[in-house]
Formats: sequence, structure tokens, C-alpha cells
Amino acid sequence: MNKKTLIEWDKKYIWHPFTQMNQWLTEEPVIFTEGRDCFLKDIDGKWYLDGVSSLWVNIHGHRRAEIDEAVKAQIDKLAHSTLLGACNEPSIVLAQNLAEMLIERLPWGEPLTKIFYSDNGSTAVEIALKIAYQYWVNQGIKEKDTFVSLKEGYHGDTIGAVSVGGIKLFHEIYKPLLSKSIQAPAPYCYRCELKLNFPSCGLACLGEMEKIIRQNHERTVAVIVEPIVQCAGGIIVWPQGYLKGLRKLCNKYEILLIADEVATGFGRTGRMFACEHEEVTPDIICLSKGITNGYMPLAVTAVNEKIFNAFLGEIEERKTFYHGHSYTGNPLACAAAIASLEIFKKDRTLENLPPKIELLKNKLSEIAELSHVGDVRQKGMIAGIELVMDKKTKEPFAWKEQTGWKVVRLARKYGVWLRPLGDVIVIMPPLVISEENLARLLEVIKDCIIRISSD
Ligand code: PMP
Repeated sequence: MNKKTLIEWDKKYIWHPFTQMNQWLTEEPVIFTEGRDCFLKDIDGKWYLDGVSSLWVNIHGHRRAEIDEAVKAQIDKLAHSTLLGACNEPSIVLAQNLAEMLIERLPWGEPLTKIFYSDNGSTAVEIALKIAYQYWVNQGIKEKDTFVSLKEGYHGDTIGAVSVGGIKLFHEIYKPLLSKSIQAPAPYCYRCELKLNFPSCGLACLGEMEKIIRQNHERTVAVIVEPIVQCAGGIIVWPQGYLKGLRKLCNKYEILLIADEVATGFGRTGRMFACEHEEVTPDIICLSKGITNGYMPLAVTAVNEKIFNAFLGEIEERKTFYHGHSYTGNPLACAAAIASLEIFKKDRTLENLPPKIELLKNKLSEIAELSHVGDVRQKGMIAGIELVMDKKTKEPFAWKEQTGWKVVRLARKYGVWLRPLGDVIVIMPPLVISEENLARLLEVIKDCIIRISSD
């Protein structure tokens, strides 16, 4: 199909996500046609370094032979069957692989042994919220109807997930539709709501969280957070000790802790799961994005035995979890995920990260010196560069200037594909990226920031 027709049809028929379509219709879109390693090729044959892992999903590179083959082999057997009242082989094997991995990686509390499948990060979160709520109801506790979450938090775009979201631009408009939630200050040191500095603050934001929990624990179902890095909120990297302290609070006040590792899971932070950094086992974990290396939509909500057992009973007790999706446990997606987990072992993906993480750190420290860079934040292979108009006062650029977008658009000219979060330039390449390509990615970003911000 020729480029002109594709663009015409795209503009005529597609409503793009998170996009002001008015603006989209005036621009020439990039149509990707091929992927290889950490690169994407567009319809004109131009290659781009994929600096954001195709929306944070790619881990081992595009077109990994092992995953291609696993999916093709599964296609020859069975593309889809249901998990409602039946099983399929890949979903069983993957559940075993994941449960074993969660038990091994997160051994500091009740092990996460039960796997509930769905097909995207938002549904993984919806399921976590519903399970957490029903966990209490099934035990006769009905007054718990509120969640505690964080400002600048992001857990997906469905209504339950939006209820616990804390990004005004995305979430505020839906307020009349949302369920009950209370939000604590984000542990966002660069723009600390409490106007304090870490570590002399003594984690005062955790103190604020405790106040909220102390006052509301009787009606609180769970606390839900993106552990260590609040990604969509602007790559907000937490100060050390916050997550551990939060786990202690949840234990003290007997409320559940839900870790949304949709973005941070599968090695992004340098460990398989972000919770490992502070030796925390959540009661429920949400996983998606990297789980299939971006091949197929798949998500998992994993819970511990105690939660699972609260749903057991006679049919008339109505303790069943009445939830499921048409594509729950899809065999093609599960086959891709099994192959992706095997690559972690074969490639020693996590073991190979430290020099790349170090390189990223060094390059970021150079970028931090630029006159319009307010802050650089990094955890493992995730980084954010916050651009500001005034470095001293931290005053942001005017929102409508779209400075972040200008940087990203310019980077495209140099063969680098990025997507900013407002004026935060996000760096989240596939973990397989070579040191050479990582250095190039950072050099292009630095150069583009200089050119745009000195205009
Ligand atoms: N939780 C987190 C932490 C996320 O970053 C995202 C997506 N960016 C989601 C949930 C939602 O995932 P999805 O887009 O697959 O629904």
C-alpha cells in the first residue's frame, strides 16, 4: 500500500491515543514498517533508534528470533481458547514460570503465587482493585471502600485505574465518575510539595502518607503505587526508604499494598522487579508491558495465597471473583511471554545491565549541567530529564510551548525515536541496547536540548 493512501486513511479513520487530533491532522505522521534490534524503520526506509522501547514494552529488541518462533509454533497449534472453564498449555506454563520467579525474587513476605491474566496494564490494575475490595467483603468487612494512592500517580485509563490516578491533566475531568480515593503527596524531591529537601526532611512525605492512613485505615482497602519510579507522572524517582516505609505502614494498619509494576517490571530498574530494591513484597502485583517483549497484549495480576483463599467457599456464599476477559490467558501472548522469560536467562539480560546503567548515569550528569535542565532522574535503565525555563527558580516553560515535543521532534531528524511526558524527556530503551547505541541516544538528546532551549 502506498504511503499517500495510508496517511490519508489514517487521518480519515484513526483516532490516536493521547493525541490532539486537530494537531495530528496538520502533521505528516511516521509510519513504521519494520523493526530490528533497537531500531524501527519507517515507510521511507529511514531507521530510528527506539529510545522509549515502543512505549516501554520492548526489552530484548524487535524481531527476536526466539519469540518469533515461539509465536509461530503456537499459531500452528492454537491461536485462542478461553480460560473460563478451560485451560491451555502456554498459560499454565507461564503461570508456573512467573510464580516461581515472583517467589524467588520477592521473598520478604507472603509469596505471590496465584496468577490472574488479562490483556493490558489498566485491566491488571482494575483486577487488583476489585480483588482487594472483595478480599475484605468476603471476610465480612464492608466498610472498606476507599483506596489511597499518590499524586502524580498513573495506573491506566479505565475508570477504576483513573480513580487512583493523580495526574491532573489526564484524570481531573473524570472526577464525577470516579470511585473513592485519597491521594498523598508524591515523593517528588525536585518539586517537593512540602518544600523540604531529602534526606534532611526525614521522608516527611511518608509522614503525610501515615497521617492519611491513620485517619482513614478503617475505610481503606489498599494503597496502590508505582514502586520506586512514578513513570507517567514524569519519571519521578523516589527517595530511598519510601517504599520500605510504606510497606511497614500497610502492615501496621492492616491494609493491602498493591504494587503496579506495569512499567517498572521486567528489568527496567536494573532488577527484575522494582520492589526488590527495597526488599518489599507487595500483597498484589500488576505486570504487563515488558511481559511479552511487546509482541502481544498480556497482563498479570498476581496475589498471595491469603488473598486467594478469601475467595474460596461454597457457590452460594458468593465469594467467587466474577471477572474475566475474552482474551484472558491467550495462548499466543503466553507463548511470547515464556520465550521472553527464557531470553532473560539465555542473554543474562539483568547481569549485563550495570555498565549500561553506569554509562547512562555519566551521560545524564553531563546533561544535568545544561542551562535549561532542571533535574535528571534515573533508576536503572529508566531516566527522565526535566526541562525548565529557569534553572534557579525551577519555573517551567509555558505549557503551550511544547518544549519537550520540540526536542523530540528534532531528535527524529537524527534518527532517534522518543516520546516526552510534558517537558520531561523520557529515556527507556530496550534493555538489550548496546553501549554504543546508548551513548549515541544520549548524545542526540543532549544536542537537541541545547539547540531547542537556546533558541
Ligand atoms: N500502570 C502503569 C504504571 C503504567 O505505566 C501504565 C501504562 N503506561 C499502565 C498501568 C496502563 O497500561 P496499559 O496502557 O497497558 O493499559
